[in-house]
Amino acid sequence: MDRLGKVLDSTSISLTKVGKVTMDWEYVGDFRYRIKSLGASSIKFGPCEVCGKPATEVFLQIEQRKYQKPSGEISYTQHGCRDMFGHYECLLRMRRKEAV
Ligand SMILES: [Zn+2]
Repeated sequence: MDRLGKVLDSTSISLTKVGKVTMDWEYVGDFRYRIKSLGASSIKFGPCEVCGKPATEVFLQIEQRKYQKPSGEISYTQHGCRDMFGHYECLLRMRRKEAV
C-alpha cells in the first residue's frame, strides 16, 4: 500500500471508531460485525488475541453469519463464528467477507 493509501486507511478507521458509539452492525459480505471498547487495557483482559501484544485499550468484536431460514427469511447466527478481543485495528483485519 502506498503512503496516501495508508493515510486514507487510518482516517477511515478513526471515523469508524467515532461511529462505533452507536453500536450498529457493520455488514461485510456474509458476515456482520459489532465492535466495542471494553474500557480497560491488557492489564485486565490479557494481550490482543490477534497479535499477542498488549493493548492500552482492549476491544471486543462480535461476529455473526448470515443464513436463510426454511421460510426464506434472512437471519443471523453466531454459530461457527468467533468473538475476539484485542486491538481495534487487529480486529478489523480479522474480518472475513465470505463463509468458508
Ligand atoms: Zn493486536
